[in-house]
Amino acid sequence: MGLKVCKFGGTSLADATQIRKVQSIMLGDPDRRFIVPSAPGKRTGKDQKITDLLYLCASHARQGIKFDEVWTLIADRYRSIVAELGVKLNIDAELAEAKSRIATAMTPDYAASRGEYLSGLIIAALLGWDFIDAADVIFFDARGRLDMRKTSETLGARLAAGRNAVIPGFYGATPDGEVKTFSRGGSDISGAIVAAAARADVYENWTDVSGLLMADPRIVENPKPIDTVTYRELRELAYMGATVLHDEAIFPVRQAGIPVNIRNTNRPQDPGTMITPDAGPVAHQGTITGLAGRKDFHVITLYKAMMNTEVGFGRRLLSVLEDHAISFEHAPTGIDTMSVVVAGSQLEEKMEKVLDQIRVDCEPDSMEVYPTMALIAVVGRGMARTPGMAAKTFDALANARVNIRMIDQGSSEINIIIGVDSADFERAMQAIYAAFVP
Ligand code: ASP
Repeated sequence: MGLKVCKFGGTSLADATQIRKVQSIMLGDPDRRFIVPSAPGKRTGKDQKITDLLYLCASHARQGIKFDEVWTLIADRYRSIVAELGVKLNIDAELAEAKSRIATAMTPDYAASRGEYLSGLIIAALLGWDFIDAADVIFFDARGRLDMRKTSETLGARLAAGRNAVIPGFYGATPDGEVKTFSRGGSDISGAIVAAAARADVYENWTDVSGLLMADPRIVENPKPIDTVTYRELRELAYMGATVLHDEAIFPVRQAGIPVNIRNTNRPQDPGTMITPDAGPVAHQGTITGLAGRKDFHVITLYKAMMNTEVGFGRRLLSVLEDHAISFEHAPTGIDTMSVVVAGSQLEEKMEKVLDQIRVDCEPDSMEVYPTMALIAVVGRGMARTPGMAAKTFDALANARVNIRMIDQGSSEINIIIGVDSADFERAMQAIYAAFVP
């Protein structure tokens, strides 16, 4: 027995058939006591998300343009869901109110929030559960940041009342009572906040994939799903491009030590991926958790004789980046060399100016820019403690004739970062995956 908070994404709520699946998942386990729904998402590849349509209405309203046509698409979606589910809800009255408030200078945030609000009303009616408006229990401060203290107090008290409830995702309220949304995809954050406030035992995040895969399926054929991943590993994988959860969603549950279970609404029999609090040192595992990577990094390398004796060299180089508001990913050093690895998007048109300033401030003997580096993170707990992991990785790359441009195990014990030329990126990923997953 344990309390579960369940968040369902847009594809899980796209139409009545999907919502029926959600209903049976929720009613199939009495531990599932709180549900956080998104707005209806795409039913097929070419379909539109309700949230996108609502933003469109808001921008029309702002420009004084009528938005009846777009509104009809939204209203029809909700009407057909309500009719097919046969729930008792005056959806026409709800739609009329939302429309008139969007029209009368309400904000884009208000408009967008109606997607989750209406989803929430429908699900509450379907399950016969309480509906708790997120604007009454999730609060932002005057600077627009989540006010976790006030939220925990109010929301915690409401959830402790002992009744099952629906809390729409994606929005809360400002100190003036205005509706404000999180950034896009923010229902994940709402779910995490509800899980933390309810002191849940598990935060179930229901989507349309059976968890995280060990590698990007566009690059590696049929990658295996990951059973368990720690928060730290997830952060490393996500940073390198693997996406599942909204970045900010991790923090409330991670802080509270609540595991997240990524599940598939279309395959509820699959166990999905468990994201668990960071375990202590892990014994030899002999394998990796996953790998992820990104292309298009630039490497700026400076050569200078006796660099190691020159006090402040590193600081001067990094200051140049700071002056141009550029963040760097890695800074490998050699005896007389120092490099910085920077995402290409950070440099773009700043490149010439940055190089000029480095020449003046650091006075290198020479300097080189390598513009097509890809970085691959090979992630796994116990990585640094397991002999042979690096050898296996490098052997795989050598056999695939991939030239390694950079290696960084850094201070993180859970990954090895490998730099290869962007042209070798896919081949390198495939070779490493094949070496660890037979
Ligand atoms: N409906 C919102 C969006 O499309 C929030 C969410 O689905 O998480 O961004």
